[in-house]
Amino acid sequence: TTNDAGWNFDNSYARLPERLFARQKPTPVPLPKLAILNEALAKELGLKAEALRSEEGAETFAGNRIPQGALPLAQAYAGHQFGHFAMLGDGRAILLGEQITPQGKRVDIQLKGSGRTPYSRGGDGRAALGPMLREYIISEAMHGLGIPTTRSLAVATTGEEILRETELPGAVLTRVAASHLRVGTFQFAANWGEEQDLRTLADYALQRHDPDIGKEEDGNRYLLLLREVIKRQASLIAKWQLVGFIHGVMNTDNMAISGETIDYGPCAFMDVYDPATVFSSIDVQGRYAYGNQPYIAAWNLARLAEALLPLFHDDETQALRLAEEAIAEFGPQFKSHWLTGMRAKLGMTGEEAEDEALIESLLDLMRKHRADYTNTFRSLTIGSREGSAPIDTPEFVQWRERWRARQGRNAESEVSSEELMRRSNPAVIPRNHRVEEALAAATERGDYSVMERLLGVLAHPYDHSPEQEEYCALPEESAVPYRTFCGT
Ligand code: AMP
Ligand code: MG
Ligand code: MG
Repeated sequence: TTNDAGWNFDNSYARLPERLFARQKPTPVPLPKLAILNEALAKELGLKAEALRSEEGAETFAGNRIPQGALPLAQAYAGHQFGHFAMLGDGRAILLGEQITPQGKRVDIQLKGSGRTPYSRGGDGRAALGPMLREYIISEAMHGLGIPTTRSLAVATTGEEILRETELPGAVLTRVAASHLRVGTFQFAANWGEEQDLRTLADYALQRHDPDIGKEEDGNRYLLLLREVIKRQASLIAKWQLVGFIHGVMNTDNMAISGETIDYGPCAFMDVYDPATVFSSIDVQGRYAYGNQPYIAAWNLARLAEALLPLFHDDETQALRLAEEAIAEFGPQFKSHWLTGMRAKLGMTGEEAEDEALIESLLDLMRKHRADYTNTFRSLTIGSREGSAPIDTPEFVQWRERWRARQGRNAESEVSSEELMRRSNPAVIPRNHRVEEALAAATERGDYSVMERLLGVLAHPYDHSPEQEEYCALPEESAVPYRTFCGT
């Protein structure tokens, strides 16, 4: 067969022990049609947009055609969902294989919504168009913000109606990831595999994400793997907090070893600053609230450490001590990334002991006055051009004096405060009402122009250009809080 699209697959996952996956082809759909294609990403991957836009391309993205060199499979994994442990696995996703890019990078190409697998349990293996387009928008927005994330290459519609609370148009998302290794993948191997499966999986993760450590024969390489994952997550979660991103369902199966944000279900960006913010309709306890995310990340990493325990040391007590020492590093690492990021958001260089208190005072004021998180920092960044302070109280004026005095003590050799703030404070985030508007146009009228425009703006969130102005506006006051849903 021809391979005009430029697929260049390897299938290293398929060479892992058999119990870690199940060979599974996507289930064909009646009417494959390309809804949206990420041409910039296609190019990076060495794929040709023209071929991907052809009928063959649509068939590939809908799962009806297996591209040359792909070896489709569903990955096994377990996970703690809202604290409860369960066997899960790809219930509606198929890994086609790993595309080797022209730069020699290896990335997973996964179809999501591609039909039932041995891990589907009661599910239909399908996904609805709205949520797949939503994942596309938010993941591309995260990428634009400079936050590690899985990417979205395409969404195809299937011509099939799927049954949720109502009938919805079916769709398949093509997701690109550094890998789909999750904390839950290790939990699966630890619980349902032999120790050798666990070791092989850990070696595979090292080879894929930390090849330099993988080569080191001396030293405790499995402990080093845990440490690297902790480092990546400490950095990632700090980035989430700094832009007000709420993942919504930080189960251990939704935490990637690569340090990429993964599994965009009920996620959303916070408007009003409030650490208790929760959007997900099923998170009634607020387990995954904005302010809890760092603690949940540490909890999830402890589950990873638990799974890897037998590899750390033959003596269980020793292994436990090593794991606990590693996990204890997460908090200070997160805090350090967060402080560095907050200083940058406030245009402060160097470090002063009082910085944290200064930052916390601002956050307190924001919470008290229900200030918009993104726009407060934006307004501090571009100054009061419109003549309005983000918070209009004497306390804020006092805070601003303290802040300006602190900026006045910046190290001279450093970049200007304004420049630092401009590149640390996005003007635009995917605001819920703008995302909903784009999804409505696409799903109800087949009009993708609203989404394309939104994506264009979200690709350059730090531009602070006049064209972005309209995307900074808050939604009209609504009595009904914004709610997100997963599993659709
Ligand atoms: P998620 O909440 O998206 O992280 O998914 C949790 C688990 O449910 C994963 O094992 C998914 O593969 C599975 N799952 C979600 N939706 C479906 C569906 N429609 N059919 C089969 N499995 C599903
Ligand atoms: Mg198998
Ligand atoms: Mg998931």
